[in-house]
Amino acid sequence: MVPSAIHNLSLSITEESVEQSLYQKVGGVCMAIAILALMAALAGAGKPYPALFLSIIIGMFALGAISYAIPYYQGHAGIRNNGIMFKNMTNRGTIAWILGIALTGFYIIIYWFPWMFEGLIRIFDPLSKLLTNQPANQWFMYGAFYTLAVLTMGIRFIGRHRHNRYHVIRTCSVMFFQLGFSFLIPMFLKKLNEPEFYFSYFWPLKYSYLFPSDVSSLMSSGHLGVFMVFWGAMMTFIATPILTYKYGKRWYCSWVCGCGGLAETAGDPYRHLSDKSLKAWKIERWMVHSVLVFITITTILLWLNSYYKGGILGSVSGSFAQWYGFFIGALFSGVIGVGFYPIMGSRVWCRFGCPMAAVLGLCQRFKSKFRITTNGGQCISCGNCSTFCEMGIDVRSYAQKGQNIVRASCVGCGICASVCPRGVLKLENGKEEGRINNNPIIIGNNNISVQL
Ligand code: SF4
Ligand code: SF4
Repeated sequence: MVPSAIHNLSLSITEESVEQSLYQKVGGVCMAIAILALMAALAGAGKPYPALFLSIIIGMFALGAISYAIPYYQGHAGIRNNGIMFKNMTNRGTIAWILGIALTGFYIIIYWFPWMFEGLIRIFDPLSKLLTNQPANQWFMYGAFYTLAVLTMGIRFIGRHRHNRYHVIRTCSVMFFQLGFSFLIPMFLKKLNEPEFYFSYFWPLKYSYLFPSDVSSLMSSGHLGVFMVFWGAMMTFIATPILTYKYGKRWYCSWVCGCGGLAETAGDPYRHLSDKSLKAWKIERWMVHSVLVFITITTILLWLNSYYKGGILGSVSGSFAQWYGFFIGALFSGVIGVGFYPIMGSRVWCRFGCPMAAVLGLCQRFKSKFRITTNGGQCISCGNCSTFCEMGIDVRSYAQKGQNIVRASCVGCGICASVCPRGVLKLENGKEEGRINNNPIIIGNNNISVQL
């Protein structure tokens, strides 16, 4: 008889164990309890005991996510993607589809049928009254879940990449900005009867911040409102180009933005699902720049309309803004952008729809110090870098040629460099000269040539 331990020995990656650890099983139980409590709250059972239900749901979700993260803090530090291609949850299996449909359904309900969540929203009343002095609405509940996801999955991400200072610091940064700038500060402003303002979002991502209606309402709400208008305009027109020139788009997409924060933390298990094909790259460029043109025209039309006091383009500019809000603001950024994580990867919105990413990308491509340098001679063409690039960049093809990577879509997450077993890739901010090297060294079987 062959001992069972020998049965488990294998040199084949297809034999990779996908068994869960004890902590992950405990995490699964916690998640199940949280989901049961959530269902009960949806049915209205939480109304008499909102604080109790809220504690159970938040506590069990947090405990579940952290239990899943514990194995990453054990043993040697370093990236372990073991079995990622064999798990139902991370390889477009049935569970992934169920999760994708559930997330999509959640977004559809929260945008268009919030009354269906009434029972669930009510259990957030104690927290909402504490932070805003007002009862909760669907957006407060959404903000609380979103922040919880970034924080708990951020702990997991730090465990996975604790050997790498860059990842630890930038993950702490997105957790900080989400908790402080995208949740607590806006809620606190509400409590003080000031405008609910998100200091970490700017036009064109937060498109309404430069719409005439928002600007005039902020300007008429006192000194703080005037400062908010100034802040928004300054960040859009001055800070964004300067910071992108110095550091590339990573200063925002991988360090500050809430959408990027969710993608980097909750979306991390799905980063390898991004489409790397040339066709996807072509579609990406058309789509993301079309959205930027759309919101720019909308904003200009609204200002023209405001200047002429509705005399011209009155109905046109209004319906432009409404269509943009429906298709891009709600349908794309929410429903598709997050709902499709388990199927299309974590950066669908950032890659195909975000107008802020388009602006930052144009700066990064044409006027920036940022690049990823490649030491082509060391590349063994394993393809790890391309596989785990969440923006669908075929990093390997650049590495093989020893060509710098200067792509508009690169969010500077640095994962390609971390998963490279040969230290080929390096994220750098350097002199602009020589940043784009279109004459890379080609290393073939029989010779080395330079394309002039
Ligand atoms: S190329 Fe590297 S740094 Fe840029 S988005 Fe892809 S994985 Fe991140
Ligand atoms: S991960 Fe490193 S060695 Fe592998 S293909 Fe990419 S650059 Fe080459």
